[in-house]
Amino acid sequence: MAKVVGIDLGTTNSAVAFVQAGKPEVITSKEGSRLIPSVVAIDNTSEIVGITAKNQMVTNPEQTFYSIKRLIGRRYDDAAVQKDIELLPFEIRKSDKGGVEIRFGNEWVAPEVISAKVLAKIKTDAEAYLGETITEAVITVPAYFDDSQRQATKNAGKIAGFDVKRIINEPTAAAIAYGLDKKGDSTIAVYDLGGGTFDVSILDIGDGVYEVRSTAGDTHLGGDDFDQRLIDHFISEFKKEQGIDLKEDAAALQRLKEAAEKAKITLSSSEVADVNLPYITADAKGPKHFRLQLTRAQFENIVGDLVDKTFDSVKKALSDAGLEKSDVHEVIMVGGMTRMPLVLRKVEEFFGKKGNQSVNPDEVVAVGAALQAAVLAGDSSVQDITLLDVTPLSLGLEVNAGEMHVIIPRNTTIPTEKTEDMFTTAVDNQPAIDVKVLQGERPLAKDNKVLGSFRLEDIPPAPRGTPRFAITFKLDANGILNVKAKDVKTNKEQSITITASTHMEQEEIDKRVREAEENKAKDEEVVTRLKTKNDAESLVYQTEKLVKDYKDKIGEDSAKELTDKSTALKEMVSKDDFNIDEVKSAYDELVQKSQDAGAKIYAEDPNAAGMQPTGEAAANTEKKKDEPIEGEVVE
Ligand code: AMP
Repeated sequence: MAKVVGIDLGTTNSAVAFVQAGKPEVITSKEGSRLIPSVVAIDNTSEIVGITAKNQMVTNPEQTFYSIKRLIGRRYDDAAVQKDIELLPFEIRKSDKGGVEIRFGNEWVAPEVISAKVLAKIKTDAEAYLGETITEAVITVPAYFDDSQRQATKNAGKIAGFDVKRIINEPTAAAIAYGLDKKGDSTIAVYDLGGGTFDVSILDIGDGVYEVRSTAGDTHLGGDDFDQRLIDHFISEFKKEQGIDLKEDAAALQRLKEAAEKAKITLSSSEVADVNLPYITADAKGPKHFRLQLTRAQFENIVGDLVDKTFDSVKKALSDAGLEKSDVHEVIMVGGMTRMPLVLRKVEEFFGKKGNQSVNPDEVVAVGAALQAAVLAGDSSVQDITLLDVTPLSLGLEVNAGEMHVIIPRNTTIPTEKTEDMFTTAVDNQPAIDVKVLQGERPLAKDNKVLGSFRLEDIPPAPRGTPRFAITFKLDANGILNVKAKDVKTNKEQSITITASTHMEQEEIDKRVREAEENKAKDEEVVTRLKTKNDAESLVYQTEKLVKDYKDKIGEDSAKELTDKSTALKEMVSKDDFNIDEVKSAYDELVQKSQDAGAKIYAEDPNAAGMQPTGEAAANTEKKKDEPIEGEVVE
């Protein structure tokens, strides 16, 4: 049976594993390491990938490409992307489609093209290690990755020559690696402190099903920050001793960076680290050497606040999941930084239980991905696992000229599919409807993110409110969204698969949820206003139609009264600051009058096919469940 590998494509490092006779094994790279730095460089004209690229990073900054995961599948104009661009030394520009492009040698390429080079090295190294061709893979992504980031990651795999069987969430992969599904129902926390980012996820596990309940994190908190603190410390110590500032010296900085990371790692197992960098620089008096001894306690002092910061996110994830820390049965440690004793101590202090590290934290995600890959390949040595993830934010569409209508609520388990068939037109003879797909928690469309839009055309002429459209949202296991609109009468349909959607990372998810909470009262008032206006306009329309169609049956006085009242109502809601209560009472009154007229018509001709009484709708301004919802109006 051909092997399917599991790949952890990390911001800093990647790892790849496979399953042999039910046992996962991590592949060793050609350089003899189980971790492959996710770094690509151009050295003169040749491309280098992995550790060799990482080792020349500081001296060749413009041609060394790292942290590409921060850019993959994202929008250039995104504020978080802008922040990353500022920090990254290579050239980045906006692509024609609004995404990101990186100057790679003489070309401009998409981030996935560079990630593909890392994946291609992984593929070659795995093939050399296994002695066979590998074409299929499962790749992991952070739980908060949106569909565009997932799709771009999948593309990177494709460019590298992989058939990507599944994109799965990193915390889920970590939980799979621990085989936690076989231990009965439990709630676990995955604490992932890597080279550049911190993520925490709360998962529910039971009956072989994994469900991500919440995620939180900090996209700019990781091992690199710990290293930077040490580099700053080294520079300041050297300046104190020698009066020389090493900040501007690229070659010295590269050596300091490597020394900092090495010292940090040493201090995870030793109490003291010696830093020794001979000939770090020179002045008129001759060469200078850098020597320093650092104790674990000193180091912990220098970086303690960075560790503390992770717990802000942990608390957030717990509160989002509606849990107390005591509800967590198990804490899984992921990422190289979780080997640091201070991290382990603080995790234990916080949760009151030790973080589980028995599966190597650098490799646990790749191992879980490999187990999932084996299941997908039908490897009977591995028990079946079902993956369930959730959507981080609600998905829906714009209705009634400005409202967000949620189709898939936030935290729905995916894959999922939902159809609603009560959409209709807003004006007579409307030739098309625009379907604007939105993501977010705010009741007003304009406050949410537009993921994409499309138009369903050729609607046969019909009075407003009569055509019916079914809208289907299908979110697959990889988090990729397909939206379809169908004219129920003609069966004509139109759809989009959202691949160019905008980025949404944890910080932003949190921000959006928070904003929705903060603006709840204000938003509700605006929505009530919008609904009141819509209901009023709809009633005006129906009244006008009633008068036109049945003028002789309802009598002139009554027709005039209805016309006057509906004109007045129309005028009332044409003002932006109309009084909601006044409109509601005018609405109720008009409903009453039109019902009386309707009754008169009916008494005369029980088969009259005029308007439907709107009595129930009058009682409140909420849409009734089976009342059609107006789609976007197309002028
Ligand atoms: P990851 O992104 O999960 O590969 O994590 C990489 C980060 O973990 C880098 O910042 C490494 O320097 C750091 N790291 C790796 N091993 C250790 C260790 N034993 N102690 C502390 N940090 C480590």
